[in-house]
Amino acid sequence: MPRAAYLKFSPPFIGEEEIAEVVDTLRTEWITTGPKTKRFEGEFAEYVGAEAALALNSCTAGLHTALTALGIGPGDEVITTPMTFASTVNVIEHVGARPVLADVLPDVLTLDPARTAAVVTAHTKALLPVHFAGHPAEMDPLTALAETHGLAIVEDAAHALPAQYKGRTIGAGHNLTAFSFYATKNMTTSEGGMLTGPAALIDEARVISLHGMSRDAWKRYDTGGNWFYEVVCPGYKYNMTDIQASLGLWQLRKLARFQERRHEVVAAYQAAFAGCDALETPSEHPEAASAWHLYTLRLRPEMLRIERDQFIRELHARNIGTSVHFIPIHLHPYYREKYGFQPEDFPVAYANYLRMVSLPLNPHLDDADVADVIEAVLEIVEANRA
Ligand SMILES: *Cc1c(COP(=O)(O)O)cnc(C)c1O
Repeated sequence: MPRAAYLKFSPPFIGEEEIAEVVDTLRTEWITTGPKTKRFEGEFAEYVGAEAALALNSCTAGLHTALTALGIGPGDEVITTPMTFASTVNVIEHVGARPVLADVLPDVLTLDPARTAAVVTAHTKALLPVHFAGHPAEMDPLTALAETHGLAIVEDAAHALPAQYKGRTIGAGHNLTAFSFYATKNMTTSEGGMLTGPAALIDEARVISLHGMSRDAWKRYDTGGNWFYEVVCPGYKYNMTDIQASLGLWQLRKLARFQERRHEVVAAYQAAFAGCDALETPSEHPEAASAWHLYTLRLRPEMLRIERDQFIRELHARNIGTSVHFIPIHLHPYYREKYGFQPEDFPVAYANYLRMVSLPLNPHLDDADVADVIEAVLEIVEANRA
């Protein structure tokens, strides 16, 4: 018997506190970037241990602003992973640089340091690792590589709130690091993002992110504000609003509780699927603490009569929502055509893409939901053994 109600893949978890805070913001009449955004930046920086934080309207804006602040542009190359969302790579195109892809590690699907080293050229200016599914990328070898060649590192931490690598919290170091508060992420501001890093770089990023203006609107219009500002570069319009920050302040307070439930769900999935030879469960390196944004199961095609797409249809027929993270960058028409990519150019990303499916993983899931997912997965496997 399939479950009666469709189990959504990743609905947001919004409580009465967030709703009341948004209403409060609307009543204060300060609805754009203002005191709540400032407070959110401060609390977020403290949470991850960052020197400074800049709240923006998306993680994509954070990545774009980071590359711009580092002066990366035409003629430059940025090395990143094919196993990511398009915006990681789109921002490299936005600054006029060339994205260079390096394949991923077969176990955790993050940027492979050896393959990264193999594509460094005299034009390489930065590495852009993604903490895939919340699992930190191999930061020590990537940092060593960056130091050898004088490269910057920008981290895509859209999934990595909160994650640790060798006891260091992602977002706490010297690298500009972009987090996402998109509706499906570990916490949300509906749309939103945060860029963390050294104070001097974050100050520069702040100017770039708001029209290139030397001072922000809050300072201009607040009591005692001054009308004068100067445009020092043709910046963007990437600021977070106090309405979004109202959500963020409460989501951040609840994040530990959200994470606790994510870990319980992951433990239940791991225990249930560990003994199934047709499934490969996600792994975690001993030096890593994943944020467990995604639970990405991989099918072992040689053990099954059905392929991934049919597996997803079978789950859907049992009212289980799923997703695929990600369609590798080199398969998308824009990148395929511009750079002449073939699927097998990045064989690890491609082969894993073909057999991956992300199961529901969010704080809404109760024990019965988790049991339904497990039962459906195992039932489909048993009904379709090769
Ligand atoms: C969601 C996501 C982004 C983009 O985040 P936005 O806040 O929607 O801009 C970037 N990279 C990865 C890996 C993501 O999953």
